[in-house]
Amino acid sequence: MKIYLNGKLVPKGQAAVSVFDHGLLYGDGVFEGIRFYAGRVFRLDDHVDRLYRSARAIALTIPMTPDELSLAVLETIRANGLQDGYVRLVVTRGEGSLGLSPKSCPNPTVFIIASTITLYPDEMYQRGLKLVTCATRRIAHGALSPMVKSLNYLNNIMAKIEAEQAGAGEGLMLNEQGYVAECTGDNVFVVRDGRIVTPPIAAGALAGVTRAVVFELARSLGIDIREENITRYDIYTADECFLTGTAAEIIPAVELDARLIHDGKPGPVTLRLTGLFRELTRTTGTPIG
Ligand code: PMP
Repeated sequence: MKIYLNGKLVPKGQAAVSVFDHGLLYGDGVFEGIRFYAGRVFRLDDHVDRLYRSARAIALTIPMTPDELSLAVLETIRANGLQDGYVRLVVTRGEGSLGLSPKSCPNPTVFIIASTITLYPDEMYQRGLKLVTCATRRIAHGALSPMVKSLNYLNNIMAKIEAEQAGAGEGLMLNEQGYVAECTGDNVFVVRDGRIVTPPIAAGALAGVTRAVVFELARSLGIDIREENITRYDIYTADECFLTGTAAEIIPAVELDARLIHDGKPGPVTLRLTGLFRELTRTTGTPIG
């Protein structure tokens, strides 16, 4: 396996960062998870744009242009001879002293891993997964914007541990006001009376790339889709519920807090979107070259 590290492709065993890297010491950095299917990278520009926005928000200057970084992603995939897989693109604050200040970190660390991924077993896509509401609230905008896809994922990890302990496939995270924000690594949608609703970004959701694709697909089908605050009640009483994420794609959720959502089976709108999404991932994207 070849890893891209600060401008070079190096063998996995040599791909190491310093123990003084603030990405490791403080979670100070940003990242993206990107999928490629059948030799094409899905929504590469959207991911690179979000990475640069996340970096800007934390006052981190990425030492390359977006075009250079995109080319580096393609080069890394090619170097590993993969056609289908997952890319982890990471920019950390870089090596510095033990203090918090990024001033001691003159050179951000950039690395890219191209690998494979399966998040949920096939069965969960067919039957749907169980959700549980986590006691851990989604981090507030006033603390650290949930819009920033930072290396500091402890908030989500605490919720993920709760979900796993409860035997659920994903954990539902509420914001401080009690409205639904998102899941630990996925956006959440409900369908009721043929209408699709998802929490607004302001509720604490990440501006998911897959989430945006679902808006495009729904509109192309003439389905009403909107951002509105929702509560757990709206999920308990929904006709359908599904989650979206780069790794998870679109996955039905059929239970929340031991209450079946509708009949506890993936619904028709979810299945329609899943089919279209699959088609899109296999027919569009930036060729690996
Ligand atoms: N929310 C969180 C907290 C995430 O980490 C992710 C991505 N892993 C998502 C939502 C989904 O975003 P995307 O569709 O861009 O992968």
